[in-house]
Amino acid sequence: MAPVDKQLVVFDFDWSMADQDTDRWIFEVLAPDLRRKMKTLKDEGMTTQMHASRAQSLREAHARGIKREQIENALRIMPFHPAMARGVDNLKKTGRTTFLCLSNSNSVFISTILEDKKLTHIFDEVITNPAEWKDELLSLRRRVDPAGTQHTCSVGCSPNMCKGEELEAFLARAGKEFDRVVYVGDGSNDFCPILRMREQDLVLCRSHRGLSSRIAKEGKEKGLKPTIQYWAGAWEVEEIFATL
Ligand SMILES: [Mg+2]
Ligand SMILES: [Zn+2]
Repeated sequence: MAPVDKQLVVFDFDWSMADQDTDRWIFEVLAPDLRRKMKTLKDEGMTTQMHASRAQSLREAHARGIKREQIENALRIMPFHPAMARGVDNLKKTGRTTFLCLSNSNSVFISTILEDKKLTHIFDEVITNPAEWKDELLSLRRRVDPAGTQHTCSVGCSPNMCKGEELEAFLARAGKEFDRVVYVGDGSNDFCPILRMREQDLVLCRSHRGLSSRIAKEGKEKGLKPTIQYWAGAWEVEEIFATL
């Protein structure tokens, strides 16, 4: 695709910008039994409880003496492809692209990794679940406060946030029209935002994951408009970014 003047690149984080899932990885590294519990909940289809279980797993990790430094180190050694770092950095340098992160991970995991990879300058905004260190405990909140108004998404976004509504709200407050929106994602919760994209937009969908199967199953019936391009390795995203 040829370059345009005003471009927005939207990034999911886990398995899209990063080459792993932050929530799962830290437990795989530091407490595999907690990772197993998480997987059991997922296999039983308890997705609404998953955010609560992440917060609970962090409290359990804290109770057994796992330190902030260990969690930060686990995040720093998490797979992150050098081609992805290079690709986003080079695209940022052209000055024509705004970057938005839309992630169901949390603010601390994302900022720890971006700092380590020297990529804190990339995103104009990071929309995710707020988190903060309280001494050695990482305390999580939901992007959509469970006590407040809930989102109205019917596409299957998690209660934490509707990525489609977040994207629309971002576009409304950006105060400018983008010639092209490019969405980089892999998961089933990336389906809702891409349903709101236009014909001139582009989806860079990671192959063989939740998003690709939803596109195959529901894309046509739901009237999906943007061009879809599939990728497997971050080097392919770098290659595509070089043309944008
Ligand atoms: Mg993802
Ligand atoms: Zn949604």
